[in-house]
Amino acid sequence: MSDCLFCKIIQGDIPGDKVYEDENYYAFNDINPQAPTHFLVVPKKHIDKISSMGKADQELIGGLFTIAARICKQKSISDFRLVINNGAGVGQSVFHIHLHVLAGRAMGWPPG
Ligand code: 5GP
Ligand code: ZN
Repeated sequence: MSDCLFCKIIQGDIPGDKVYEDENYYAFNDINPQAPTHFLVVPKKHIDKISSMGKADQELIGGLFTIAARICKQKSISDFRLVINNGAGVGQSVFHIHLHVLAGRAMGWPPG
């Protein structure tokens, strides 16, 4: 999608601090990290938010989690928090699905 920030990062039009890439996924460090480790895993396919996904996207969305776990394993990170914001009311600011992966500090519950 031409006016999507994350599509531009995936395509290399805007620089991103890449941590992983394969045919279907891209992961990069968050520009405003909320923990010592904070990266985002996104599908290369543009889907704006979780509530827009269809049954055909199930496998693609599942892959976000397995890739997050694989990257954490490679970084020897055992404890991490995974977050997906769905909608502006809960803090989604970029409308291209992304899984936040946060680690490296103590975290409270419930999240704010
Ligand atoms: P959301 O608020 O939509 O759940 O998360 C969007 C995330 O994207 C935020 O954590 C924000 O810091 C990050 N972000 C926004 N613009 C950029 C950018 O240009 N580059 C990178 N790497 N991250 C960004
Ligand atoms: Zn996009």
